[in-house]
Amino acid sequence: MRPARALIDLQAFRHNYRLAREVGGARALAVVKADAYGHGALECAAVLADEADGFAVAMIEEALELRAAGIRAPILLLEGFFEADELALIAEHDLWCVVHSSWQIEAIERTALSRPLCVWLKLDSGMHRVGLHPAEFQQGHRRLLASGKVAKVVLMTHFARADELDHGRTAEQLAVFETAREGLAAEVSLRNSPALLGWPQLFPQQRPSDWLRPGIMLYGATPFEEAHPLVDRLRPVMTLESKIICVRELPAGEPVGYGARFVSERPTRVGVVAMGYADGYPRHAPSGTPVSIDGQPSRLIGRVSMDMLTVDLTDLPQAGLGSRVEFWGKSVSVSEVAARAETIPYQLMCNLKRVPRVHSGH
Ligand SMILES: *Cc1c(COP(=O)(O)O)cnc(C)c1O
Repeated sequence: MRPARALIDLQAFRHNYRLAREVGGARALAVVKADAYGHGALECAAVLADEADGFAVAMIEEALELRAAGIRAPILLLEGFFEADELALIAEHDLWCVVHSSWQIEAIERTALSRPLCVWLKLDSGMHRVGLHPAEFQQGHRRLLASGKVAKVVLMTHFARADELDHGRTAEQLAVFETAREGLAAEVSLRNSPALLGWPQLFPQQRPSDWLRPGIMLYGATPFEEAHPLVDRLRPVMTLESKIICVRELPAGEPVGYGARFVSERPTRVGVVAMGYADGYPRHAPSGTPVSIDGQPSRLIGRVSMDMLTVDLTDLPQAGLGSRVEFWGKSVSVSEVAARAETIPYQLMCNLKRVPRVHSGH
């Protein structure tokens, strides 16, 4: 069997969830959209089933899979419904529903429902993606309550630049939110991972009854480019690994792989590993991207191909056929690989495919 696999440490996932709640001082919806950022939504939700305050997903299809697997905790649809006919299912399966646009309010007003909804009304406080305009927020809130279809409204917004720790935009967005919600007594949900980890000084007024929405930090990856003390307390959940399937010795001056993107500067021992961009390893990772071989640091050399890639064994005489190569996990940070490949850890983890996932610590 091909040795490529992704090990998923569910105890680490649980540890990170507990840390999110502890640091944020509020209830937390574990964000498990996109198959838990590539980690397996059913397994991740199951390990927190008796513990999480709730879960959040991007769409009803993801929520129904969790319900079918027996998850009874609250599940929030982060984009609400895409078509009004989802409302019947939302009520039937007792899902919580973001409302980010006035067309959604109109749809709720028009639709007969088997039970009242729990709605999370989203404000556009400056990201300008979805959310009601500040001037429409109070009216939207009134209309939802007046519709008779809504039992509860939670107020929420989303930050565009909370990962930039020296930027004032998060404080500005928070001020817009506070003004728009003035006079509305309601539970509030503001913080994703970077806001939760990076901006404690901005949220002294958050109450235990409010709601955090941590995603990336649950998987043990940092949302920041720079070091951060709380990030050191996260435990990586995914380890992407494979093995060396072929070794060759090259004299100086020989090219390796497609396009001869690497040419040996010295006599070089090359290890070929069963891992490629079809597995989700980024093709844009350049020569020099860190890997760990039998626990020793080394580097990628040459272009990543679909099913194989090449690593430098020259300084690792003990390593050879069958040696274990870690691409990210406990030895190599997924964020560093992402930075080398000019992307973010979110994308690397979501893009995982073809590789069997092996969960432990249920
Ligand atoms: C995905 C998402 C989150 C989680 O964000 P992270 O940066 O992964 O913590 C929180 N809130 C909303 C609305 C989201 O779409």
